[in-house]
Amino acid sequence: MSQLHVNLGPRSYDIAFGQGLLAGAAEFFEARTKANHLLLITDDNVEERYAIPLADACTEHGFEADVLVVAPGEQTKCADIAAQLWQTMIDEGCDRQSAVVAVGGGVVGDLAGFVAATFARGLNFFQVPTTLLAQVDSSVGGKVGINLIGAKNMVGAFWQPQGVLIDVDVLDTLPEREYRAGLAEVVKYGVILDAEFFAYLEQHIEAINARDKQTLLHIIRRSCELKAQVVEADELELTGIRAALNYGHTFGHALEAATNYERLLHGEAVAIGMMGAARLAVALGRMPADFTPRQEGLLTALGLPTATPADLDPDELWKLMWHDKKVRDGEIRFVLPSRIGAVEVVSGVTTDQVLQAWSH
Ligand code: ADP
Ligand code: ZN
Repeated sequence: MSQLHVNLGPRSYDIAFGQGLLAGAAEFFEARTKANHLLLITDDNVEERYAIPLADACTEHGFEADVLVVAPGEQTKCADIAAQLWQTMIDEGCDRQSAVVAVGGGVVGDLAGFVAATFARGLNFFQVPTTLLAQVDSSVGGKVGINLIGAKNMVGAFWQPQGVLIDVDVLDTLPEREYRAGLAEVVKYGVILDAEFFAYLEQHIEAINARDKQTLLHIIRRSCELKAQVVEADELELTGIRAALNYGHTFGHALEAATNYERLLHGEAVAIGMMGAARLAVALGRMPADFTPRQEGLLTALGLPTATPADLDPDELWKLMWHDKKVRDGEIRFVLPSRIGAVEVVSGVTTDQVLQAWSH
């Protein structure tokens, strides 16, 4: 097992990485909370495989442990379900001596974290992410929340966990498409922060596609280190530093909205979105022309889509970009690379330049 300490003053915490870590989860929790009651929140696909064994191990260790199960899928991340969870928590006798443990993907992590942040004005919270996306992205950084109709992640909080437990063995059962979608965020970290990591990914395609455990441990840990650096520098998204994490996302969010959040997984939209951002960076003379095929080569080798779906109209996508939360002062601000491993926030981009970037 290896550990990464995320330095956030009094809200600092550890992320543990390894294989077979779920077995030792109770000790990990015990060392980091005074709670004697654990409320595990999970979804139907994760309950039997991981949440129940985890709860049993915690009970054996002397915790009182309850498992609450929600339906899988983004629709679960809503106010109705949060309200049901609050009510169930009252019924289960939750109080300040209870800690919430999210066992699942990003949906479960965001929802459980939101419930932890709000119930009794805030409970201790642990994350046991079970998708690659959650392990490299959503479980790090403290953003928790729920969706409103037509407004993703609109209600939420910054609520740091007491610890995150990343067991790569749980990825064995992750569906192929979900696994590949998580890799998009991994590639993103290379482009925005670490050229050497980008090259490592290019050189380890086979091992990554085969879900080789040592390779996975390396790429997940490096992704968390890079995200943690950004979060440590800008925990509450106040200085603009955290905006770097949005590379490919202004384009990606428009794609998700244009397809009603049904056709593309988040990571797939981000992969296509990063291609839009790459073409824009090249068109603006910020990147050499060979960057676009290089990024496309890596994404394609990892089984990710790179082309804007032909049935989507660039004008429509351009309109949808304006709905992004990151639009400020009547201007869209794009996160664009200035070289592999460094990005800048760029404004003053023209409509034509963006329309061009959508097509190829
Ligand atoms: P994300 O983490 O990508 O935000 P979700 O939380 O919606 O997404 O999880 C994606 C899907 O994968 C859900 O249907 C979830 O139940 C399922 N899932 C999560 N973890 C695992 C796992 N380790 N094995 C199999 N299925 C999983
Ligand atoms: Zn993302």
